[in-house]
Amino acid sequence: MTIQKIAIVGGTHGNEYTGPYLLNLLKYRVPVLRYLTFDLKIFLANPKAYQNKVRYIDYDLNRSFLSEDLANYSLDSYEANRAKVINQVLGPKENSKTDLIIDVHSTTANMGVSIILVNNNMFNLQLASFLSTRIPNVFIYYIPPEAYTGNNDHPFLNSLAKYGFALEVGPIPNGVVRHDILLQAYDATLACLEYIEKKNKGMDVYYESTVDVYEHVSAVEFPLDSDGKIDAIIHKELQDMDYKPLEKGAPIFEKFDGRIVVNHEDESFYPVFINEAAYYDKKIAFSLTRKKRIRVDNIT
Ligand SMILES: [Zn+2]
Repeated sequence: MTIQKIAIVGGTHGNEYTGPYLLNLLKYRVPVLRYLTFDLKIFLANPKAYQNKVRYIDYDLNRSFLSEDLANYSLDSYEANRAKVINQVLGPKENSKTDLIIDVHSTTANMGVSIILVNNNMFNLQLASFLSTRIPNVFIYYIPPEAYTGNNDHPFLNSLAKYGFALEVGPIPNGVVRHDILLQAYDATLACLEYIEKKNKGMDVYYESTVDVYEHVSAVEFPLDSDGKIDAIIHKELQDMDYKPLEKGAPIFEKFDGRIVVNHEDESFYPVFINEAAYYDKKIAFSLTRKKRIRVDNIT
């Protein structure tokens, strides 16, 4: 199998500047690097939201790619239309002309360089394993569709192609670029392109034979008052502890009245997206994942 068409996507969320800035770096530098075995498309996903410095205009673009929504022409928000355009340009979903998509995002959570997979096929896991040997502070976060939407479809842009991932870098505020974090995204992207170039040429590429994958379990809401408003703060002992085991009895919130809310889960889950700014609207405080060690070597 060779990967012939790759898309690097940025600005799916218009207030996450690392992606669009990365696209600019790539426009200047990739021609010099000259990849021979694949076509590379550099694509700004939500230009209007980026211009307006907002996550989205009408609706979250990165929740607009369910197959039924792409087929539904009664949805007429800016993002619903934009998703259909992107489905034409990069997709179509299920029969995509693009083999691999890297969709670049940033987070306010302390998640390092997260490789977020919506498809845990062996190619994606081996690529993720390679990246974790090459780039410091890499974590692999897999979102099974059933755990996220309750059925077998995904609403994420990445679900247009079989291969690839969302590259999530942080912590960084929205509307800001940081040189160090931009370079992490750049290095991870270049390492990915190098891997594919070598694989396409039939070369051996080293990667670890096992990887730790953090598999999405559930989202955890903030405590709410009787009016449905958030009435607690994420506890300082949980802040920045993404990908660290959360033990039963550990404090997770402090309510305005001073009461401490503790974790009641019997299993030690691994929280991610702790205090992500974009999730306050949805009243989500963090998500829980289960850590699994997975073999990724080819068994022949
Ligand atoms: Zn994003």
